[in-house]
Parts: sequence; C-alpha cells; structure tokens
Amino acid sequence: MTSILRVVLLLIASPIAAMAQANPDWHAQFPAFKIAGNLYYVGTADLAVYLVRTPEGNILINSDFAEDVPTVRKSIEQLGFKYSDTKIVLISHAHGDHDEGVGQIQKDTGARVMVMEGDVADVQSTAPGRPGAKVDRTLRDGDKVELGGSTLVAHLTPGHTKGCTTWTMQVDEGGKKLTAVIIGSPNVNAGYILVGNKNYPTIAQDYEKTFTVLKSLPVDLFLGAHGAYFGMKAKYERMKAGGSNPFIDPAGYKAYVTEREAAFRKEWERQKQSQK
Ligand SMILES: [Zn+2]
Repeated sequence: MTSILRVVLLLIASPIAAMAQANPDWHAQFPAFKIAGNLYYVGTADLAVYLVRTPEGNILINSDFAEDVPTVRKSIEQLGFKYSDTKIVLISHAHGDHDEGVGQIQKDTGARVMVMEGDVADVQSTAPGRPGAKVDRTLRDGDKVELGGSTLVAHLTPGHTKGCTTWTMQVDEGGKKLTAVIIGSPNVNAGYILVGNKNYPTIAQDYEKTFTVLKSLPVDLFLGAHGAYFGMKAKYERMKAGGSNPFIDPAGYKAYVTEREAAFRKEWERQKQSQK
C-alpha cells in the first residue's frame, strides 16, 4: 500500500501512535534502576517497563513502542542483566505505547507472551501499529504468573481496553514484604464513547469495576503503565538523594485513584447529558 495510505490507516487505527511525537519523554532513555527487591524499572522517561529478576530468568511487563525496544534492551544491560534471559512478557494493556514491541522481544528472546483474554486479539493482530505476537497463554482475572520463586497476579481492570490488566506482586526488600501495584490504566482517553458504545457496550460498567478493584488492592509500591501516573521522575530523583523509598506511597496511590475515578464519572455524566 502507498505510504500515505499507510499513515492514514495508522492514524485511524492508533490515536496513541499519532500522538507519539508530541511527548519526547516517550522515547527518551532513562537510567535503569531498582525499585525494590527484585523489581526494576527499565522503561523510557515515561513509558514504564518493569523487569522482575528471578534465578530462572526475567519477566518483563510492557515493551513500549517497537522503536523503543533497543532503548529498553540498553536499560536491561545497564543493570548487568541479559536481554536474552527474558522468559515471559506481560503487558498493561493492548495499546502501542505498551505492547507494540512485544512481537520483537518475543522474536529476539523466545519469551512466552501472556495476555488477558480481552486483549489477546489485539496483541496477535498484525495491523499497522500492532505487535503481531503469538500469545502463548491467555490470562483470566486472578491468574498467577510464576517464575523462579516470584509470583505476579493479573487483575482484570477493564474499560481503557477490554483486557486492561493491573499487576500485583510481593517483593522482599531487606526482609520486609512490600506489595507492588502496577496500574494498567484508569484513563478515559479523548474520543472514548462511554454511552451507547456499540463496539464495547459495557465500557462504563467496566470502568466502575476497575475503580472498585483498584480501591480494594493493598498497596505499598505505587506504580503504573506510565511514569506520569505516579510521578516517576521526581521519585527517582528523591531515591537517588537517599532516605526512605519514595515509591512506597499508598497515600499517593489512593489520591491518584480517587482523582481518576472523579474524572471518569465527570466524563460519563457529560456524555449522558449530551445524549438527552
Ligand atoms: Zn492506553
């Protein structure tokens, strides 16, 4: 197909990709660092990628865009780890800024890809901007992913996508057990239809379910699919300065979820009113 047609299709298929140029943080290398225990940050300056280190190899959560995969690889190697030790790849949700590179990582490392049921088709799709990965395991709400003594739990938090997933895990930091929560996305993107959505009739109810789940999770380490959700850059600077771990932030988590739920309800109400 012509390149112009391809660009047009990309714009239609992926509003996220169209915005990619607008946020320089999305593709900027960021220093890789340990968050706590065996949980590390290997994403860009905004697009979060998490690495769980185990004696049997590593788990990655998210890939970022395909163009960011070399950046993620560099971050993994900055920590002294091997990209080829990637055994499992998970995602926050099937949007290009989190999953477009999954097919590449799978091809490079042979990692097994595990995805929540509602997002499987989008991860396997070979449409422009989609990863075209082979999903080795379909996950359902509450499923566990285990490797080398680490366990991640997949919580279905739908709405943003049908299979949007919030990951939780326990990490051991100096003999202390900490619960990490990696929020999939609570956001209603511009153009999302919450009322009378023919492709996704239960979207608003799914967001409500998501907020119920997010409010019910115990949390020590507040994390998410974008660094901006949890103030990653500022917390990284505080961590470097020393003192207590700034990613331990249950109050920040609670405030974030409360604010995002209010934003969802406001938008839902606005859409209901404009339908009348
Ligand atoms: Zn998204």
